[in-house]
Amino acid sequence: MDRAEELAHAWQSVCHDVAESCRRHERSPDGVTIIAVTKGFPASDVIHLANAGVTDVGESRDQEARAKRDQVLAAKVHGLTWHAIGQVQTNKASHVAQWADMVHSVDRARLVLALAAAAAQAQHPLPVLIQVRGGAHGTTAADGRAGVAAEHFDDLVDMVLAQPALALRGLMTVAEIGEPAGAQFEDVARLWRRLRLTHPGADVFSAGMSGDFDAAISAGATHLRIGTAILGSRMVAR
Ligand SMILES: *Cc1c(COP(=O)(O)O)cnc(C)c1O
Repeated sequence: MDRAEELAHAWQSVCHDVAESCRRHERSPDGVTIIAVTKGFPASDVIHLANAGVTDVGESRDQEARAKRDQVLAAKVHGLTWHAIGQVQTNKASHVAQWADMVHSVDRARLVLALAAAAAQAQHPLPVLIQVRGGAHGTTAADGRAGVAAEHFDDLVDMVLAQPALALRGLMTVAEIGEPAGAQFEDVARLWRRLRLTHPGADVFSAGMSGDFDAAISAGATHLRIGTAILGSRMVAR
C-alpha cells in the first residue's frame, strides 16, 4: 500500500469505529465531526486525507500549520477547515487568527484579548472554543496545565462574549491521564449544556482523541480530534 491508500484505509476505519460508537450511544454520526490531527505530518498527508474525504484538520504549532496550509492551498486543495487545537502563545495569536478557522484552546484572558485584536480587521468574527481543564479536582489555576479551571469558566465566557471580533462556539477539553476520561468529559459537558441554555450558538463540544473518543461520544462530543488512529504515531511528541 502506498501512503495515500494507507491513509484512506485508516480514515475509513476510524469513520467506521466512530459510527459504531455513535450507534452504541444512540447518537447520529451526522452530529459528530472527526478532525484529523495532522501535526507532525507533512502537507502531502493532508492532501491525501482531503482526497479520502477528510474535511477538518487540526494543528497545534503555529509555524508548522501556516507552512502546511500554504502548501495545501498551493496544491489547489481548498475547502478544508483548519482547527488550532494546541496551546497558543499570546505573541502568536495574530498569526493563528490568520490560518485557523476555529481556535479550540482559548484558556486565559490575555489570549482572548490578543485573538480579538488580531481578528478585529477580519470580515467575520473568529470562532473560538474555551478550553476547560479535565480532571480539575484539587488543582490550582497556576499549576501549568492547559485549560481554564471550571471555577473560572464563567469569567472567561464573559470576556469572550464582550469581544465582537470573537464568536463563542463552545468548549474543548483534553482528558487528564490517570483519571477516567468519561467522568472528566461528563463534567465539562455539564458546563457546555449550561452555557447552551443562554447561548445556543455555542454548539460545539470538542473532546476525545484516538484513545478515548468512545467516552467523548457518550458524553455528547460534537468534534473529535483524532491523530494517531488515522496517521500513525508521530515522530515528535506533543
Ligand atoms: C495531538 C492532539 C490530539 C490527537 O491525539 P491522538 O492521541 O494522536 O489522537 C488531540 N487533541 C490535542 C489537543 C492534541 O494536541
